[in-house]
Amino acid sequence: MTEAHWLRIPELLRLPAQTYEWRVDTDLPDLATLTPIQGIVTASHHHTYLELRADVQTIVTLCCDRCLQYYNYRLACTTTELIWLAETSASQPEDDLVETLPATGRLDLADWLYQQLCLALPYPKYCDPNCGGIHPPTPVETPTDHRWAALAQLQSALERSEPSP
Ligand SMILES: [Zn+2]
Repeated sequence: MTEAHWLRIPELLRLPAQTYEWRVDTDLPDLATLTPIQGIVTASHHHTYLELRADVQTIVTLCCDRCLQYYNYRLACTTTELIWLAETSASQPEDDLVETLPATGRLDLADWLYQQLCLALPYPKYCDPNCGGIHPPTPVETPTDHRWAALAQLQSALERSEPSP
């Protein structure tokens, strides 16, 4: 379970430029990283909405979708997300696709950062664009299917044994 990094939304209004800055140098236990996640996450209060920004990087160990070998990948995540602030829980917008938080509420920045990093992971995951997979392709002769040959023999034998009119 990732250690929470709580941000109390109303407290942003008392900060210079209404912005909280988190100098990130942390591990997120839910995400297997080789090096700590480093960078910066900021949260700015714009009265009707929050602006969250992340600019972080780390090295993750991924499993190749083709050859199933583990490999290290430099994961850089630069993203911005706007979260609408609702005065009361009753004034939630109709559109469920828009993320909304109560203006008096709080937000777990560690959890938000974890989600952003997961979204930034490559898909599909290949250790190399030319990865040959588990079974490297080798030239093989087209095998002759002997069942078909036997069937063809039987067919011609039947035709020969048919009584002629
Ligand atoms: Zn591979």
